[in-house]
Amino acid sequence: MVSHGRPLVDHEVGPILSVGRLTNEAGLAERPWAILWFTNEVECLMSRIEISLFLLVWLMAACDGETLGQTDPGDGASLDVIAVDTAVDAHVPTDSNASRDAQSAPDMNSVQDALLDSRSPDSAIGNHPDGCRIGFSGGSAVGVGFPTPNARLQSIGVVRATILFAEFADVTSDRTPEEVFQLLSPGAEAFFTANSYGRMDLILDPHLVWLPLQENAAHYAAGLTSFAGHRAFMDEAVRAADPAFDFSSTDVVVVMAAPNAQDIGYGPTWMGIPEYALVADGRAFTNGVTSGADLLFWGSQWLNHELGHSMGLPDLYSFDGPDGFTRPFSVMDLINSSAPEFLAWERWQLGWLDDDQIICDGLDSEIQLTPIESIGGLKAAMVRSAGARVVVVESRRAIGYDIGLQDTGVVVSLVDGALPTGRGIIEVMHDRIPLTPGQSVVVDGVRVEIVSRTSMTDTVVLTRP
Ligand SMILES: [Zn+2]
Repeated sequence: MVSHGRPLVDHEVGPILSVGRLTNEAGLAERPWAILWFTNEVECLMSRIEISLFLLVWLMAACDGETLGQTDPGDGASLDVIAVDTAVDAHVPTDSNASRDAQSAPDMNSVQDALLDSRSPDSAIGNHPDGCRIGFSGGSAVGVGFPTPNARLQSIGVVRATILFAEFADVTSDRTPEEVFQLLSPGAEAFFTANSYGRMDLILDPHLVWLPLQENAAHYAAGLTSFAGHRAFMDEAVRAADPAFDFSSTDVVVVMAAPNAQDIGYGPTWMGIPEYALVADGRAFTNGVTSGADLLFWGSQWLNHELGHSMGLPDLYSFDGPDGFTRPFSVMDLINSSAPEFLAWERWQLGWLDDDQIICDGLDSEIQLTPIESIGGLKAAMVRSAGARVVVVESRRAIGYDIGLQDTGVVVSLVDGALPTGRGIIEVMHDRIPLTPGQSVVVDGVRVEIVSRTSMTDTVVLTRP
């Protein structure tokens, strides 16, 4: 809570509104928060006591519920959802298979062909997906609910990411822009084509020159700890590129810091709102990403994780420790996991699975699931539990980007929309080994039994004991 937090105060985002996060002593994000920031003129009119009382009331209100996203700052502007994913993405390398990349991308011609006959079979089980579709918490820019905030990046159709390259007053890049771009492309494009079953067409548009930013790298590294500082970093790069680059079709801006700028250790996502969008060539962007030196470790999977945030997905690793809640089953947990494909729930959120590929509350009947990595068929059996909790059952196989998965079978997770990002908002409810026939698990009062399997199916029965 707030009492042990260390506020990171932004003084630059605008004359009225400033947004940041509270962090704990370890520098990890505690929860989003917002304060009104007054201009110097107004500040001089208020005593410190008045300001303190005002901030106390504001923070109590912000921390009292889930309504941060609807707070009206009082000047007519709507504070929608606003946060900066900063220290939360300082991933610590923990796996040895860091170099998994585009080599394992599936054949996209066969992917496209299969899309033509990918409709799932009708099920005899009554299906009411709305019953499992939980709402989006207004307190965060990312979450597990429906729909994702309007300010987030679209996940269907053509998505154009402008890639800029930035070096600094004290750091000249030791690589060409082309060499850095190859760390992302074609790995990122192929990953989203495969995970979306061809529904998302990510296009990376690089501006292949090093843009000389004015300050030392450490200045921009410090800026990553606040919404305003992160925005200013990207805005300077956009301004530098604007005379020579046309941003009129840009959906999201990605600023690649020179990888040898060691002061910038990691690359987080910036999630804005229309009032504080980046603007160029008449286009407004509320999503952006900047890279850090750890790019050389993660490769294109770094961008895949961060664009997941841009589209509204939460972190699934733990903010409290080195482990994750869903490992190895999502790129939103461990970036270089052996099975980094998106979970069924994430794909449903992003519109990559249709409602008729989801069985909601299909109790007491055999349900045959097909692997999440393959196109078509039923992909998840779900049961709505109490509150904003949903038990989710899916099938995983060692194919596609999950080729490194040693054990395959059924994965059972619990989605809890009441939890924040990085705190187990989705959690796999067994160890890292998927379940196989004869095994069962009870989650939130729902028993999941694995009945049988074939090379490309898992049959399960869900009951309430
Ligand atoms: Zn993250």
